[in-house]
Amino acid sequence: MELVSAEATQAQGSASDRAFSFVSAPAFPAPASIREAHSLFDADIIPFDPRDAKSHREGAALANACREQTLGGVVALEGVGLHTGEIVHMTLRPAAAGHGIVFRRTDLDTSAPDVTDILARYDMVSDATMCTRISNAAGTELNTIEHIMAALSAFSIDNALIEIDGPEVPVMDGSSSEFVAAFTKTGARQQGAERKALRILKSVVVEEGLKRSELCPADQFRIEFEIDFDSPVIGRQVFAADIDEAFFADELGDARTFGFLKDLELMKSLGLARGGSLDNAVVISDDEILNEDGLRFDDEFVRHKVLDAVGDLALAGLPILGCLKTVRGGHAMNNLVLRALFADPSSYEIVTLREEGASVARPSLAIPAE
Ligand SMILES: [Zn+2]
Repeated sequence: MELVSAEATQAQGSASDRAFSFVSAPAFPAPASIREAHSLFDADIIPFDPRDAKSHREGAALANACREQTLGGVVALEGVGLHTGEIVHMTLRPAAAGHGIVFRRTDLDTSAPDVTDILARYDMVSDATMCTRISNAAGTELNTIEHIMAALSAFSIDNALIEIDGPEVPVMDGSSSEFVAAFTKTGARQQGAERKALRILKSVVVEEGLKRSELCPADQFRIEFEIDFDSPVIGRQVFAADIDEAFFADELGDARTFGFLKDLELMKSLGLARGGSLDNAVVISDDEILNEDGLRFDDEFVRHKVLDAVGDLALAGLPILGCLKTVRGGHAMNNLVLRALFADPSSYEIVTLREEGASVARPSLAIPAE
């Protein structure tokens, strides 16, 4: 999430983001139903092998994950919605291999999954101006999915059903830290199906004014991110790292969203950002940070943008073996570069992740699937 117009305040101005529209052709047509959407994935379910059961950390690192994973148990969370200001309840449930991450709006008075369910995938994104919003064919929307998607992706959780009784994921403390804590406690459970990944074969670039975003080949998932804000508190910050579960939990998950006081006041006067406060964002006024305890990292701003990118790229539907290089990007650019990738089938291949041996810390060998 980018509270208010944090991204738009970057040096190049806001016009292009406001004019953002999703016109690129998706790699495959938007499915008519969740059932059809699921059939796009390999849904073969192999019985869970108890010999695969390990402690969460060990199991996750060993597999990281060469087999699909779901949650080790049910997770219940609640918190305020940033825009509505109302309490939202969320229940995360394990789901079968091939299910993907699906959000279900339990506040809607219907039992039709085509209305209540929204698959978390790049071509379901209907707006990316301030947060990432997904919508289904029935017009049901869910806002601000990026911080929980980032944590799910970092923990290699491929399959889950997330019930939520409102139009937005609770903002929690503005970061992914409470999701990380929940997943660390619950753990991940390996499933039978071999895990597939998206390997980038050649660079794909999208540009809008001074914004640039590129997906390029790399042996593992990596992000290189640069921001440049016309604010003395933020300025230019650069962050580059290979991202895995431990790195995310230690270095990214706690980084909070941020915004400017004048934007927050304007939005509140318009009835927006009702839940926005110093409890769930770093708030900047001119040249100072208003939060009493200051920053969690010296470069918390760019770290949060990397966190957002992890969540937005999780909408590829498969883990990515490749590097995202972004200058002045945000949710819109993250989505556009994924759409550009899927629009060019020669730019990627689907591979099956394999373990080389019991001690391998991450899948270093990927072979094409079929
Ligand atoms: Zn964010």
